[in-house]
Amino acid sequence: MLDWIAVSIDSYLAEVNDYLRGKGVYEKVIETLKILSQYENIYKSLSVTLTSKNISKDNAEGLVKLGKKYNVDAIVFNMIMLEGNLFENIADLMPSYDGYLKFIKFLETELITKYFGDIEIMVGEPWAGLFDPVMLFGLTKIMKTVIPNTRMCSAGLTSLGVFSNGDLTLCLMLREKQFIIGNLTKEKLIDLIDNDILRKIRGNSKVICGLCEYSNYCGGCYARSLQVFKNAFYADPLCPRNIKYLSPVIKEKLKFSE
Ligand code: SF4
Repeated sequence: MLDWIAVSIDSYLAEVNDYLRGKGVYEKVIETLKILSQYENIYKSLSVTLTSKNISKDNAEGLVKLGKKYNVDAIVFNMIMLEGNLFENIADLMPSYDGYLKFIKFLETELITKYFGDIEIMVGEPWAGLFDPVMLFGLTKIMKTVIPNTRMCSAGLTSLGVFSNGDLTLCLMLREKQFIIGNLTKEKLIDLIDNDILRKIRGNSKVICGLCEYSNYCGGCYARSLQVFKNAFYADPLCPRNIKYLSPVIKEKLKFSE
C-alpha cells in the first residue's frame, strides 16, 4: 500500500528551482502537488536538496508556506550529496560549511519549533541532534524503548531501499554491489533481512563514529562516509565532530573557512 509520497522541490521561487532542477520543473511540481492535495490518506512531503543557491531562511519559510498551501505533511531538508562527478565539480553549488551548519541549527532549533504540530520539518543530518543533544538525541533514546534498533540514520535499521529492478539496499544512496542485499523480484523480504551487512549495521559499526558517545542515537551517514572516505564504515564527514579527519583537499571542496 502506498502511504508516503515525496516530491522534490528546491525553492518556492520558480526561477531558483528551475535553475537547480531544470526548466519547467517548478510548474510540473505545482501541478503534482495540486493533485496530491486531494489525497488526505497519503503522507506527503517535500524533499529539498540544500545548495549554495537555496540555503536561506527565506527559502525555508517560503517552502513551508507552499507546503501548507497544498496540504503537505512534512518538508525534508537534505544536504547535496558528495558523489562522483558532482563532488568533483561541486564548487558552484556547495554552500560554505559555516553557512550550512548555521542553517541546520536554524532548522533544528527554530523552524521545527515554530511549525510544531502544523507541518513537520525534518533534517536529513543524523548528527543535527548535536545542537541540542539532551532534547534531540533524547527523543531517539525514548524511541529506542519501543524500537530498539532505531537511530537518526535509519539505513538498514528501520528502513531499506528498493531500486526499480527490485534490488534491495540499505539506503538508496548506497548502490554498490556490496550493499545490495538481494532482489525482491526473486526473493522474499523475510529471507533477506538477516545477513552479514545488516548485522554489521545493527552493531556499532563505524570506525570513527563508533567512538562517539552519540553513535547509538545518531550513527552518521554511511553513504557520505563512502563518498568522501571511500569506506561506508568510517565516519560521517560533515559532522562537526569529524572535521579533524578531513584532508585539506576535501576541506577546500567543502568550503571550510578555517
Ligand atoms: S561523530 Fe558520528 S555518531 Fe557522533 S555525532 Fe558525529 S556523525 Fe553522529
